[in-house]
Amino acid sequence: MKVTLRRVGLFGGTFDPPHLGHVAALSDAWASGSFDEIVVTVAGDPYLKSNEGAITPASRRLAMAEAAFAELPGVRVSDMEIRRSGPTYTIDTARELLTADVTLTLIIGADVVPQLARWRESETLASLVMLYVLPRGDELVKIPAGWQGTIASMEPVDLSSTFTRERLENGENPHGLVPEAVIPLL
Ligand code: ATP
Repeated sequence: MKVTLRRVGLFGGTFDPPHLGHVAALSDAWASGSFDEIVVTVAGDPYLKSNEGAITPASRRLAMAEAAFAELPGVRVSDMEIRRSGPTYTIDTARELLTADVTLTLIIGADVVPQLARWRESETLASLVMLYVLPRGDELVKIPAGWQGTIASMEPVDLSSTFTRERLENGENPHGLVPEAVIPLL
């Protein structure tokens, strides 16, 4: 029997808040034709309060992500990482999504590439998924040894959640930073 594989992209993040860089990333990934569906997972609340400062509660980040990406074709926002108790590990999410008829690709920004080796069960994860890497900044990006994947050809979009939060805290106009639908939820 011939099984048609469903090509699923997984775009995980904190989305505190979701911004137009995320939208550009998802639009590029969908336009690449590499995916039948893209699942956006919003990370749960941090297990250990880190010294990075307070993170917006997961329920609000989820609502913002749903609003931000609602209009994007092929994209579904999932609360699966929020419903799971304890810390968010991509390997757990990957195992949950990887049914027999699925191929899974992690859609990640280039800033995430150097962290992959430190992720839980990194080698196993590398054997289970492919990568679709989005450029961030001007640095040349490479697929790390042991992983398979492609580099997106999109022009880098110079936006991050940190930058967006700083701008908003300064009372700056959110237009041009976050999708319009997110503005009432900020
Ligand atoms: P922070 O400022 O806290 O690092 P972030 O903007 O990177 O936040 P996350 O929610 O941590 O946002 O990112 C989720 C995913 O989106 C990551 O893979 C990240 O690399 C990617 N990403 C974020 N901003 C961009 C961007 N401007 N272009 C491409 N990918 C992006």
